[in-house]
Amino acid sequence: MATIAFIGLGNMGGPMAANLVKAGHDVIGFDLVSALMDEAKANGVRVADSASRAVKDANVVITMLPAGKHVVSVWTDIVPSADGALMIDCSTIDVDSARQAHALAGKASLLSIDAPVSGGVGGARGATLTFMAGGEDKAFAAAKPILEAMGKKIVHCGDAGAGQAAKICNNMILGISMIAVGEAFALAEKLGLSHQALFDVASTSSGQCWSLTSYCPVPGPVPTSPANNDYKPGFASALMLKDLTLAQEAANSVGAVTPLGQHAQEIYKTFEAAGNGGVDFSGIIRHIRALADNRGVR
Ligand code: NAD
Repeated sequence: MATIAFIGLGNMGGPMAANLVKAGHDVIGFDLVSALMDEAKANGVRVADSASRAVKDANVVITMLPAGKHVVSVWTDIVPSADGALMIDCSTIDVDSARQAHALAGKASLLSIDAPVSGGVGGARGATLTFMAGGEDKAFAAAKPILEAMGKKIVHCGDAGAGQAAKICNNMILGISMIAVGEAFALAEKLGLSHQALFDVASTSSGQCWSLTSYCPVPGPVPTSPANNDYKPGFASALMLKDLTLAQEAANSVGAVTPLGQHAQEIYKTFEAAGNGGVDFSGIIRHIRALADNRGVR
């Protein structure tokens, strides 16, 4: 069993660290928010009073932080104290920052992978996350058994930054497809077609996709979807906007053209600016209906 430093004990990191403890690892946590450190302690995580102290005796270091600037700044701080540790970043960040973090680890002769996740808070709690990893084969092989304590599918996507590339491509599909499914239901409503009828047909036809069958944006057909719970997240629109923005930044930096990804980003930007950042991203259907009713943004 490993000694694992876990930096960033928020909505995702907190339950992920708890699952590492459950799997028998010795976990030393750190977060800037002391209430989160207390919660982690209650789940069997030892806490440290700084990130660099947390990593001192660790053979594995995991970070789960909001954005690229946090990851680069924390890795700059902790890499000098991480004596021979395997470095894993699970945050969703831009590809350039991920590669900067790899370079910091490489200069100190540490193995590293970027390993963002899919599956949300439910997946973090249930240890059913999907990890998409980028980095050398040797680093991936060392990280895999650790990640298996927090997830059920671990995919090696390629070299440094490939995990982040896979994550933002996947979430660009998700953002676009949720808008498409929302538009289809809004159109069905105007045509007098019931939600259930559209679901029964499209979920077994060529319109089938995750946004429809697992996360249906209208209440009823999929009882566990946030639409049945007044669009409480789930996956907040602000996070979807973050990922769509990362996708656009990546597209611009490599000269890819993604017109629907760009349009989806604009739609979620408008939705967030109207005060819906904390609403589940499937709530975009309300915005689509409001456009038709000339009621402006909801
Ligand atoms: P969160 O804001 O709940 O947690 C981030 C934590 O990092 C916070 O507790 C914050 O205090 C801590 N932090 C920030 N700077 C720090 C520092 N310098 N030192 C120590 N701690 C620091 O966010 P989250 O929902 O847990 O998401 C974390 C990452 O996972 C993000 O990149 C997000 O995009 C990604 N993600 C989230 C979800 C989701 O459904 N929440 C799903 C997939 C991926």
